[in-house]
Amino acid sequence: MSDLSLPRPGCCKWAEGDSGSYTFPCSNRVEPGVSYCDDHRSIVYIPPEERRRNRGGGMNTSFKRIAA
Ligand SMILES: [Zn+2]
Repeated sequence: MSDLSLPRPGCCKWAEGDSGSYTFPCSNRVEPGVSYCDDHRSIVYIPPEERRRNRGGGMNTSFKRIAA
């Protein structure tokens, strides 16, 4: 029986499940100090392009309004 209730060292820490009962189904290897494999990191961290797109709408306009 494999223990999926804890993230394994050196493996992706992508968690699935409800609060209190997580599993770590992804066993992709990761570099030391890195939490997620490339696939899951792209889900967890918003890519720069996506961030720029969001900022172009909301943040800039509200900043301008405050400044003016
Ligand atoms: Zn992963």
